[in-house]
Amino acid sequence: MADETSPPLPFNQLPDTAQTLMALMHAQGEVARLSAREQLISSLLVSVNAVLWAFDWESQQMIYVSPAYERIFGRSAGLLLADYNEWRDSIYPDDLDYAERSLADVLIKGAVEDREYRIIGADGQIRWLSDKCFINQQAAPGQRLIVVGIAEDITDKKRAEGELQRLATTDVLTQSSNRRHFFDCAHREFALAREQGTPLSFLLLDIDDFKLINDTYGHQEGDQVLQRIAETGKAVLRRGDVFGRIGGEEFAAVFPGCEPQMARQIAERLQREIQRLVFERDGHTYGVTVSQGLTGLTGQDEVLDSLFSRADKAMYQAKRLGKNQIVLA
Ligand code: GH3
Ligand code: MG
Ligand code: MG
Repeated sequence: MADETSPPLPFNQLPDTAQTLMALMHAQGEVARLSAREQLISSLLVSVNAVLWAFDWESQQMIYVSPAYERIFGRSAGLLLADYNEWRDSIYPDDLDYAERSLADVLIKGAVEDREYRIIGADGQIRWLSDKCFINQQAAPGQRLIVVGIAEDITDKKRAEGELQRLATTDVLTQSSNRRHFFDCAHREFALAREQGTPLSFLLLDIDDFKLINDTYGHQEGDQVLQRIAETGKAVLRRGDVFGRIGGEEFAAVFPGCEPQMARQIAERLQREIQRLVFERDGHTYGVTVSQGLTGLTGQDEVLDSLFSRADKAMYQAKRLGKNQIVLA
């Protein structure tokens, strides 16, 4: 028997049973290592907020989907593996065409990394997915075409983007469009009306003696007046009209498809509704009036600015004529 200090025999000189035993232990170690790796991968796949998937293009069958599918889509993975229509059924109907076209693009491009579409999730809520897809490069030539993908839930990111967009385009005090956004929309409507030869009217509205309100009742009270005027504007205008606060106590509106005579009726209604508002401060009640300048698109108007400056002149004319009126230029 070898004493403890003698070196171990080389593997190929061990008796047969010892060799088998060592090979078995080696294999067991390998199995344990693989299973630990598999556990690690599957726990990663469970915790990541994205669905990894593999799709057999020829048979149009989903052949693999990671565990996040059931959580994000709220549907059974088993059903999806049996029928790919499960995935199509969960896509928000308006986005289905785009989702399918952009998936098919992968055949030409090899990779499509900018697909974003909506699905209707388990709770009936709409969720945004960024669903990148790639042709499986590891497949040998002649093997079946497998498309692999990663569909990430980007609903929160989209929500934050929407909120940023809202903040960038709205006036904080009145929650109506700010000057920049108003003119962006107005330019768009102006170009469209010229292109299609349809009418369009432009209105400017300025609160009368607003400085007096601030001086008498304070700036905060003035702010409330601005808010109520903006609310009234939004209530009177029709869908498709553009409305915004373009300066301190100045608002503007664009009426697409509207001849100045019809726009005048809207302006009159606005004037009436604003006159009806009652404000109260320290036991005093008071009202406000506005002056409005109105104009319509003509064949000579090449830029929106010419309508804007005509409406501005008309508005100042209304001020000169004694305020609380509409001038059509
Ligand atoms: P007119 O009838 O000729 O239009 O006179 P007016 O007093 O309305 O016009 P003026 O241009 O003299 O004053 C406008 C005032 O609006 C001055 C300014 O301090 C005030 N103002 C501008 N922005 C705000 C705001 O956000 N809040 C409040 N409370 N006041 C504002
Ligand atoms: Mg003003
Ligand atoms: Mg004013």
